[in-house]
Amino acid sequence: MTTAKRLAQFGETVFATWSRIAIENDAINLGQGFPDFDAPDFVKEAAIRAIRDGENQYSRSAGHPLLVESIADTFEIPVNPMDEVTVTCGSTETISNAILGLVNPGDEVIVIEPFYDSYLACLSIAGAIPKIITLHAPDFTLNENELREAFSETTKMIIINSPHNPTGRVFSRDELSLVAELAIQHDAIVLSDEVYDKLVLTGTHIPIATLPEMKERTITLRSLGKVFSVTGWKIGWAVAPSKFTMAIRHAHQFTTFCAATPLQVAAASALRAPKSYFLQYTTEYRQRRDLLVEGLLRVGFNVQSPEGTYFILADHTPFGFEDDISFCHHLAQKCKVVGIPPTAFYCQSNEGKGLVRFAFCKSILTLKTAVERLQALC
Ligand code: GLN
Repeated sequence: MTTAKRLAQFGETVFATWSRIAIENDAINLGQGFPDFDAPDFVKEAAIRAIRDGENQYSRSAGHPLLVESIADTFEIPVNPMDEVTVTCGSTETISNAILGLVNPGDEVIVIEPFYDSYLACLSIAGAIPKIITLHAPDFTLNENELREAFSETTKMIIINSPHNPTGRVFSRDELSLVAELAIQHDAIVLSDEVYDKLVLTGTHIPIATLPEMKERTITLRSLGKVFSVTGWKIGWAVAPSKFTMAIRHAHQFTTFCAATPLQVAAASALRAPKSYFLQYTTEYRQRRDLLVEGLLRVGFNVQSPEGTYFILADHTPFGFEDDISFCHHLAQKCKVVGIPPTAFYCQSNEGKGLVRFAFCKSILTLKTAVERLQALC
């Protein structure tokens, strides 16, 4: 084993593994969350124009002035673009920057499982102590007692994610207010991963930074990839009070220094897209969600319709498999459909074994074909 101890236990990410298995089996990939349709022309044209206009050298490390202006202008509360916004190579980088920039070895960080897999890996690199609490199936609500118990005098940070990958939950005002109350009481930082903020299909997204006294302790993560179908552009950003922003930038300057300049310029104009773009975007995603939820129910899965994100966390236990991994291998080989086995998103509870995550950021035709193939399970 040559990988350093701080990373060895994590192995390859589940997304890379299952995208490879999809290719090997010539299967429809409902695993890793990326669209199988192209980005809108106005976004692609903006990037091409930026390259032609000579936006081809390093940008300001913390973000191109045009993009940080656009981010600040479209944020829900007033923020200073030069002091409170940092642009990174996607939110996976921002997560790493925020943790490495702010968390010391031995600090406790509360993580809610199931979680996006990079949280724990970054905490391990930072030498932090993760305190895990579980969202329990089937409703995946935040349990007040478990959350209260997780906080202590050594809590440095809590990582939350709403809309939530992989459960599809959009946390309610009550749930977020409880997080806020406990964070204030314990003087903890809230790292709020909101990369699916534009993918609220039922209900409303409440950015926790907008709750009373929360702006000054919240780092809000957002990104371009989901909302403009450009996951490969890797443009993300953190909005945070300047004291946290300085720490995030300390890590960012030594990680990637800056994100791709022409893509930042394109992102600056994309964020100013008319309201109608975002409305059509969610309408289309509702159609995709409903198609896949209904299809999965017909095939025999137990499914709750997700409130947000482009993921469905379905219960596969009616089919009698031992666990999520054996189920997903069967699915890839026999049905030619790939889903993600969610045990990779848990470290405390066994609940992931009975579940499978499907991504519905796919064309209607792909989703219909996937449902037809899944009939082989019946
Ligand atoms: N967030 C994406 C997902 O959950 C994956 C991101 C990645 O592969 N780095 O599918």
